[in-house]
Amino acid sequence: MFQGPFNESIIKRAREKGIIEINLINIRDFTEDKHKTADDTPFGGGAGMVLKIEPIYRAWKSVSESRGECPVIMLSPQGRKLDQDLVKSLSKEKGLILLCGHYEGIDERVREAIITDEISIGDYVLTGGEIPAMVLVDAITRMLPGVLGDEQSKLEDSFYNGLLDYPVYTRPREFMGLKVPDILLSGNHGAIDRWRKKESLKKTLLRRPDLLEKKILNHEELSLLDEIKKEIAGGENG
Ligand code: SAM
Repeated sequence: MFQGPFNESIIKRAREKGIIEINLINIRDFTEDKHKTADDTPFGGGAGMVLKIEPIYRAWKSVSESRGECPVIMLSPQGRKLDQDLVKSLSKEKGLILLCGHYEGIDERVREAIITDEISIGDYVLTGGEIPAMVLVDAITRMLPGVLGDEQSKLEDSFYNGLLDYPVYTRPREFMGLKVPDILLSGNHGAIDRWRKKESLKKTLLRRPDLLEKKILNHEELSLLDEIKKEIAGGENG
C-alpha cells in the first residue's frame, strides 16, 4: 500500500535527499507460528478480528532497540484529531514509530504497553491505519526544511498561520468570461500583498470562523477584517 505514495513526487525526492527515512515494518514478520498469525477473534465474542499484542510488541522492541526511543503513535479514529499545529510539533521529532491498525482494532493492552499518542485523521472510520499513516508522513514531510522547492509556500498555506490560503490564478487571463482579478495583473506588489491578506481573511471568516476566533490578529489584519465585515453588511443591506 505504501509503495505508490512514498515513491512519488515530493516524498520521493525528500527520501532521495536523505531528509526523511521511511522504514516499513511488517508485523507478520514478528509472528512465531508457521501461519504467521497476527490477529485473533475477540474475547467475549463479537464481530471482526483483533490484532495481537505479541507480534506488535516484538516489532516495536526491534525498532526501538535499533533506532532509539521515540514517540509511538497509533493511528486510530479514537485519537486526537490531526491538525497543522500537531503536524508542526511532530515535524520537530527526530523519529516516529507509526502503528497502523486493521480489522476491528488492536488489543487494548498495546495502548498501555507501548503507545505514547493516538492520532485520528477525522471523524470517520477507514479500513486500516495505512492511509492515515501516509497522511501523517506527507503532512510532516512538507514541513521539513529543504523539502519544498519554495520554503515560502508552506508559510502561506491554509492553517499554517491560522488562516485559509488566498485564491490563486494562472494563465489565461480570461477563460469563458471568467477573469483574473485586475489587481494581480497590476504589478503593484504592495497592493497585491494587501489584497491577498484580505482575501485570506475573507475566506476564513466565511468558511471557518472558528479559526479566526483562535487567531491573534495584528493591527493590519484587524483593520482588513473590519473592512470585510462592512462590505458584507453593505452587500446584505444593499
Ligand atoms: N473499531 C475501531 C473503532 O471503532 O475505533 C475502528 C477500527 S478501523 C476499522 C481499523 C483501523 O483503521 C484502526 O485500528 C486504525 O488504525 C485505522 N483507522 C480507521 N479510521 C481512522 C481514522 N479516522 N484515523 C486514524 N486511523 C484510523
